[in-house]
Amino acid sequence: MKYSRQRDLILKTLQENAIHPTAEAVYSILKKIEPTISLATVYRNLNLLADNGIITRINGLDGFMRFDHNTHNHYHFICSKCNKVYDVDYEIAPDLAIKLTNKTGFIVESCQISFKGICKDCKKLTQN
Ligand SMILES: [Zn+2]
Ligand SMILES: [Zn+2]
Repeated sequence: MKYSRQRDLILKTLQENAIHPTAEAVYSILKKIEPTISLATVYRNLNLLADNGIITRINGLDGFMRFDHNTHNHYHFICSKCNKVYDVDYEIAPDLAIKLTNKTGFIVESCQISFKGICKDCKKLTQN
């Protein structure tokens, strides 16, 4: 991949907004600091970064394609109030894939596990 300043900006934006944004969300953050950038450019570069294994695409959390700067094994928690997607440490259940293999004989290559509920911030709001 050839270096591109805009792609670098897109990656930085994703890293600084670790809420698993959609391409549209990345675009709306970016256009404040880079007014000339287009949504098509954001899309193209996010997909390129994902194709190169630098970031991960997440599908099927809430019907939107989201992007994740974290390429390590981890689980997700999606808040049904604010729709933010949080990372959940893989260490809470590191043996899940092993258990699955033991039980079924299937070989796990990757997993996308997500929990749904109310995040800490939203829980605070409802308590007040
Ligand atoms: Zn929330
Ligand atoms: Zn994640």
